[in-house]
Amino acid sequence: MLGPPGSGKGTQAKLIKAKFNIPHISTGILLREDISAGTELGILANKFMEIGELVPDEVILKMVETILDDEENKSSFIFDGFPRTIPQSEGFDKILSNRNLTLDHVVNIEVLEDEVVNRLSSRWSCPNCDSVYNTISKQPDVAGICDVCGSELNQRDDDKPKTVRNRLSVYFKQTEPLIDFYKNKGLLRTVSGDGGHNSVFDRILGEFSKLDN
Ligand code: AMP
Repeated sequence: MLGPPGSGKGTQAKLIKAKFNIPHISTGILLREDISAGTELGILANKFMEIGELVPDEVILKMVETILDDEENKSSFIFDGFPRTIPQSEGFDKILSNRNLTLDHVVNIEVLEDEVVNRLSSRWSCPNCDSVYNTISKQPDVAGICDVCGSELNQRDDDKPKTVRNRLSVYFKQTEPLIDFYKNKGLLRTVSGDGGHNSVFDRILGEFSKLDN
């Protein structure tokens, strides 16, 4: 899943997971789990995440390899928020070919920059189950409480306005070049991120079905 922060990658990955029963691997969620657990990796990653920078490629690639080793009996995965740089995508190619796996689709969700800033500054997340809410478009049933697990919602540190601007400039500089990288490989499935989650999901399914025909 490719797209700027706030484009809805995580939400769409969860919908794809539910429909096709494919494990969802979000490097952002894994890193936040490590930060909460206070691991060495979490302490290192937090230094980059709290200022909206990317965690170093070699750390991320090692983490992805470990996950795939843990899930060696599975053959399909949805990667959300990975790869995020050209060196990560090159490393990813090697990791996949070592395991006889192939990359089938790169779903690229397009959202304009101003919309992303609006979305992220009104986004609240559940620190326990990572459900995502929005104070404008998707309020929880009880204000400030997660509908799924009942935990208190909070705003991610990196969703605060100054960090959001930096995450976006990091996206344009380091991640956007992946669009051409995957277009050239014939793997890019670009959809508009406008509208509700279900409309975006329908567009993604439409892209998949075009390829089945
Ligand atoms: P996300 O939840 O995908 O928005 O990721 C939150 C933050 O985690 C990012 O701003 C980065 O600091 C870090 N992060 C997540 N995935 C990666 C990745 N593939 N490469 C480097 N940093 C990452």
